[in-house]
Amino acid sequence: MISVNADRLWATLEEMAQIGATPAGGVTRLALSDEDRIARDRLRDWAQQAGLHCDVDTLGNMFIRRPGRQSHLPPVLMGSHVDSQPLGGRYDGIYGVLAGLEVLRTLNDRQIDTERDILLVNWTNEEGARFAPAMLASGVWTGHFSEAFALSRTDSDGMSVDEALQAIGYRGSRPARSIPLHACYEVHIEQGPILEEEGIDIGVVRSAMGQRWYTVTLKGFAAHAGTTPMRSRRDALTGFARLALEVEEIGIRHIPDGRATTGMVQNSPNSRNVVPGEVVCSVEFRHPQSAALEAMEKDLHAAVADLRERGLEVKVERIFDYAPIAFDPGCTRRVEQAASQLGYAWRPMVSGAGHDTCYLNAIAPASMIFIPCEKGISHNEAENILPRWSEKGANVLLHALLSAAGEI
Ligand SMILES: [Zn+2]
Repeated sequence: MISVNADRLWATLEEMAQIGATPAGGVTRLALSDEDRIARDRLRDWAQQAGLHCDVDTLGNMFIRRPGRQSHLPPVLMGSHVDSQPLGGRYDGIYGVLAGLEVLRTLNDRQIDTERDILLVNWTNEEGARFAPAMLASGVWTGHFSEAFALSRTDSDGMSVDEALQAIGYRGSRPARSIPLHACYEVHIEQGPILEEEGIDIGVVRSAMGQRWYTVTLKGFAAHAGTTPMRSRRDALTGFARLALEVEEIGIRHIPDGRATTGMVQNSPNSRNVVPGEVVCSVEFRHPQSAALEAMEKDLHAAVADLRERGLEVKVERIFDYAPIAFDPGCTRRVEQAASQLGYAWRPMVSGAGHDTCYLNAIAPASMIFIPCEKGISHNEAENILPRWSEKGANVLLHALLSAAGEI
């Protein structure tokens, strides 16, 4: 089986990591910043050196096309994002773009013609660090947001996406609208510890977690800490403590895939001498199955009913509901076959994070490939991968893609 040029891929990753490099070994390459522009220019230069044309759409998404024999057929797409978190890692996103570039270079080296065109994409503002929300431009491309909404998002200095695109020269002319696609792939670092812990090379991502976010308000009665006997208190904070432990239990009841987090809490009046009168907190559930999310929500309401019996008024508001995503079985099968034929250890996985390809899955067959990252560390300057992980991920991408691009 053919394989990518692993040394060239690694050297390309190293070179790209110099753009926006931070002293502690990470990168800061915020969406549509000067560093993003330099990285984009470099990517376009590399594409041109490979004899490939790069198109830019009205949201700055970059599409590098390698024509196949039958350009009238829907192409196969791969890619990820060049932007990073502030003080982020040197592989999140960019690995998927440069592994894709290496696939195209390998096809060129070996003079392999595919039936379908292959598109390599860099999605604008995946991270959502400078402009919220995350996955903004793939969201427009797939019809989840309007273009006007995206262009009007502003950063903390009041600069809009529209202005930032023009400032770096990436407000393209091609409409930011999806086209028919035969299959979509994104290779990405896992951003979690499972593959490394289990010594497995490749994660075949079959689904992505749904998410439900809640704001819970607990009202008790603020009272003097010295004169109010224990039995006559309505303490919102101890009610919260019970709730937080119960939320953790809900998560544990749904292992291995369930996640339950109480990440934010505001206690009022937050004074040493006052029995707390009100607490507002967040609760977040994640799970790849809707039925499980439903059960978790029911358990939350049961926990809240207990608190009401203890004399607290409790309000639960669901503020975000993001359905779980099941990736296309045809796409995951090609990944499994590629990994097996290459002799790599693989396992099915669930993505706990959002990715551009989650949006793509709504409009075309799609799936993702994960590679390990050290200790699961991501969104951190210490994010790291090994050259052999990088090589294996790119080889699986190469063969999954070749298989899809050869289908007519
Ligand atoms: Zn990413």
